[in-house]
Amino acid sequence: MANASMETVPKSLRDLRACLLCSLIKTTDQFTYDGCDNCDEFLRMRGNRDMVYDCTSSSFDGIISMMSPDDSWVAKWQRTKNFKPGCYAISVTGRLPASIIRDLKASGVVYRSRDTSQKSSS
Ligand SMILES: [Zn+2]
Repeated sequence: MANASMETVPKSLRDLRACLLCSLIKTTDQFTYDGCDNCDEFLRMRGNRDMVYDCTSSSFDGIISMMSPDDSWVAKWQRTKNFKPGCYAISVTGRLPASIIRDLKASGVVYRSRDTSQKSSS
């Protein structure tokens, strides 16, 4: 019990990136080796560093650690109930490439930007 895998926890605070789809935080290497624990079915970052750079952002604010998504207030707040335990960003700056958003939509996944900075972009 409570033997949550620590694999998804960033091993260092350097080179961290946050997934633009679910805001999971890992290092670039972890995303490259394992993909996103929640989204790799759609984003296929595993073994594809270019996709890692496209689908994650190094610019994010706030790190929350979610170890038991089932009853965590954080999970309810972030609406990440079904997500894997790990560290998540409160706000992620950036957007997924339009082609990927299209693919997600085709797979029935609604992309909501995690960027809460409300920057106006032209
Ligand atoms: Zn993700």
